[in-house]
Amino acid sequence: MTNRLVTFFKKFNPLTQRNVFILLSILIVAAASLIVVNYLTIKTLSAVRAYTNGESQYSKGEKGAARHLIMYVNTHDETHWEQFKQELGVTFGDSIARVALSQEDGNPEVIKKGFLQGRNHPDDHDDMIWLFRNFGRISFMANAIAIWKQADGIIHQEYLLAEEIHTKIKTGHWTRTDQEAVISRINSITGLLTAKERAFSNVLGDASRRINGYLFVANFFFTLIIIGSAIGYGASMIGKIMRSQRELESKNTDLTLTNHELDNFVYSASHDLRAPITSLKGLIELANLEDNVAQIKEYLALMQQSLEKQDHFINDIIDFSKNKRVSLQLQEVSLVELIESALNQHRFMLGAERIKMHTVFRSDKAYSDPLRLSILFNNLISNAIKYSDEKKEQSFLNVETYATDTHHVIIVEDNGIGIRPEDQKHIFDMFFVTQNTNKGSGLGLYIVKEAVDKLGGSIAVESEKNAGSKFIVQIPKNHVVSLERVEHADHTNGLS
Ligand code: ADP
Repeated sequence: MTNRLVTFFKKFNPLTQRNVFILLSILIVAAASLIVVNYLTIKTLSAVRAYTNGESQYSKGEKGAARHLIMYVNTHDETHWEQFKQELGVTFGDSIARVALSQEDGNPEVIKKGFLQGRNHPDDHDDMIWLFRNFGRISFMANAIAIWKQADGIIHQEYLLAEEIHTKIKTGHWTRTDQEAVISRINSITGLLTAKERAFSNVLGDASRRINGYLFVANFFFTLIIIGSAIGYGASMIGKIMRSQRELESKNTDLTLTNHELDNFVYSASHDLRAPITSLKGLIELANLEDNVAQIKEYLALMQQSLEKQDHFINDIIDFSKNKRVSLQLQEVSLVELIESALNQHRFMLGAERIKMHTVFRSDKAYSDPLRLSILFNNLISNAIKYSDEKKEQSFLNVETYATDTHHVIIVEDNGIGIRPEDQKHIFDMFFVTQNTNKGSGLGLYIVKEAVDKLGGSIAVESEKNAGSKFIVQIPKNHVVSLERVEHADHTNGLS
């Protein structure tokens, strides 16, 4: 399970700058939406609760008013008439607020005064106004307002009836028959109002249950988005950390390798640089003691050989340093020109006069680094000349190029002394030289391999002792592939 998780994170690579930005944006938008949705829902539910509470005050007021009106009818006591008006005033307050709220430019002071008269708590007024104004046209609120309006109409009828009763009592026109009819009327009005009040609170109750349901769905949805993007973001981060760690480890390995190579290089280079000088000093001493001109000439020829070897070695060191130091510069290059130039540079090398050079070019233009290609061609050509077989009647050096779908292939072939199978796997190592030759520093093919790796290509050798050698180099046509391969090749130390 843990392994599978690690593989998932290693493979999980959507962490481009853009993806991180998108994930973070989703996260922020979802969190902000969740806050807004919750805030609005709480505000709505609080306003719905305030209206339900207002309805209860409305109902109490109306019932109180009906009770005092009946008492007034029975006792003709003016106190009951005053209390009737006071209690009915509660419903009038709400009615004033409703009418003002229905008007576009309804005065907030009038609305609040109305609500206060309707015994609604002042802290609830703003929420009640907000709900009416913003949800007045939404079905649940529109229904509730319609019922409220009908109830206000009935209250108005009750008030007109009460005024009629009051006038009759005051003017002494009140009869026994009136009393019975009026009480029955009042009871019927109260019954009607109770039904309206119940309908009003049912509509609001339904609405608040529905809002609760919506809130749950919205919360669930946004929480899912938040968790999803947080997981995505977390996975991306873990993936990134793992990749950085791998890069760090690989760089560490490279560094250790480079350090080791450097140690090796300094040791061998100092030894190889001093060897020709020691040999020169010895030859000079011998020449000093010699009178025979022919012998002295022989010593001079040996001195020249030593100096050439020194020169060759210094060139190798320069190539080595260039290859390490100079960054890859990809551009359009002509393989033909680079190979011709390398061949021309070696035409006057010791032993080159015996070698028949032949080229077959089937591929020319490449997108690659000319510096690395030159290092590569110079070394392969110089080796073919250096390790030519003097015993053979005719030595040759063939250079051939051709292209596959993805690569340029360059073949450098000779019929020189060849390389033993057991040496073939070491020839690309730093300072490796075969025991039977004393012609080079052992740096050439190491630099060639490094250059090929940097180009994202590969090199292989086919050779047979005393028959000859064939070096096959492949360079990718596409520089993007090339860069990827360079990275890969840096981590592998063997032949591609
Ligand atoms: P050097 O600078 O000594 O030539 P290289 O790294 O170029 O070193 O070559 C390593 C060894 O591989 C040489 O010492 C030689 O024995 C062998 N070698 C390279 N190229 C050829 C070739 N074309 N024919 C035979 N042997 C070769």
